[in-house]
Amino acid sequence: MTTPAAVTVRCGFCDAAPGTPCTPGGQHFDRYLRAWREGLISRSTVSDVCAVLGTVSAGTLVPDAPAPAASRRA
Ligand SMILES: [Zn+2]
Repeated sequence: MTTPAAVTVRCGFCDAAPGTPCTPGGQHFDRYLRAWREGLISRSTVSDVCAVLGTVSAGTLVPDAPAPAASRRA
């Protein structure tokens, strides 16, 4: 699910440098907010992430792989 543009900004949660992944499995949601504020991703992309993950915080991990369809409905 990770948007490549989100990885181009520094993570304010774990301080990962631009271009460096937060974790091997995904990026913290903070990067999505920063990328949106900088005009790198759309509001729609941020909304899509929230729709899939539900309640999020800056430290919520956004997985690189799409969530299985069954878990999106939970
Ligand atoms: Zn991070």
